Amino acid sequence: MSAVTKLYVLLCGYEVLPRSVSIRGGGDRFVMSVPISAYLLETHQGYVLFDTGLDPVLVRDPVLRQRHFADHGWEAPVVWPQHELLPQLKTIGIAPDDVSHVILSHAHFDHTGGLKDLPHVKVWLQQAEHHYAFKEAPHPGVVRADLDDPAIDWRLIDGDYDIMPGLSLLSTPGHTPGHQSARITLPNTGPALLVGDVGDWMANFDQEILPGEASDDTAALASIRRINRIRHDEGAMMFVCHDPDLIQSQRLAPDYYD
Ligand SMILES: [Zn+2]
Repeated sequence: MSAVTKLYVLLCGYEVLPRSVSIRGGGDRFVMSVPISAYLLETHQGYVLFDTGLDPVLVRDPVLRQRHFADHGWEAPVVWPQHELLPQLKTIGIAPDDVSHVILSHAHFDHTGGLKDLPHVKVWLQQAEHHYAFKEAPHPGVVRADLDDPAIDWRLIDGDYDIMPGLSLLSTPGHTPGHQSARITLPNTGPALLVGDVGDWMANFDQEILPGEASDDTAALASIRRINRIRHDEGAMMFVCHDPDLIQSQRLAPDYYD
């Protein structure tokens, strides 16, 4: 019996990016706006967040905006107050202390920025991803300030792991060295996959196209295929973090999937 009872889709902002960032060879002239999604699970063991969006201060503070975006030749994301994590949780009727677990798909800033708002959570990350985030000279997509609070209660794992009945972590490396996804089971929706950045868009899965950037192309393609196998074998619903079309038809919080 699954412990997961509801899934809320949180729209945490938009990134404006060349299509090639999401779709390998997709063209630099085609600049698209892609959502940043996170997911809140209601479970018998408290609320669980899968990814947390970005820290809005990175966008609003001119010094941080320069350091984390302009210096890399990137445009800063668009984050309106309605996209921020705590107001969205409040709309659903829950307080930060109600969240007991955070699962980070990987260590890029558009997934880690809300951690600082959730002081009493267990944070699930793959050991390999922790190493990637904390190595010297990390990838520019890692904002160390999101992750280096010594009070963070890390639960570092190595490979697949069952957190509770109906909520399992799947090792899906390739986009980054320790990327992970989640497989959940909902009472009415049935099986579902939260795929982080294994593929930014459904096209990455439907056509088995690599994302624009991967730390390991071979592993990234194997992870796309692993997700596809589960999706097809179990008829799992796909929750794809950055798909610009999918977000238009998804139920957004405070609406939910059960
Ligand atoms: Zn990423």
